Amino acid sequence: MVSDWAAKRKVNEFVDLLAVTPVKQFYPTSVPKYSENLTLESAFEQLIELCKTGEIHLLWEVKCPGESDFCIRTLDKVSDYQSIIDHNYRCDVCGKETCVTNDDVFPLFEIDEGYRHFMREEFKKKTNQTSRVRLKIKSRV
Ligand SMILES: [Zn+2]
Repeated sequence: MVSDWAAKRKVNEFVDLLAVTPVKQFYPTSVPKYSENLTLESAFEQLIELCKTGEIHLLWEVKCPGESDFCIRTLDKVSDYQSIIDHNYRCDVCGKETCVTNDDVFPLFEIDEGYRHFMREEFKKKTNQTSRVRLKIKSRV
């Protein structure tokens, strides 16, 4: 559990902001970039909490290890980590064959479709409300 309330709120804020954009997936490393007070560790902990409550889902991305790191092709994205370990892939970009190890797998979070829909509706309501408030203020002046 994260006891750092500020970090918790920042992570929730990040996810909520992203939910109203076309972005569906993000890497945990992008969260500390959002707020300088966030560490990757505390961000990751709170992201896992959000997975439990269903706002986001944890996925595992398999990347091509390539020759000399030039190939960063995504080979697969799965929710079951164990299903990809020792699995063989052939990269369609560089042609390298890979037997997947822990080093080739990276965590990735996907925002729940239902949550994205909900947040977009909330966002619309909010913008409608603010424009109504603005109209009222204008009509008074
Ligand atoms: Zn490759």
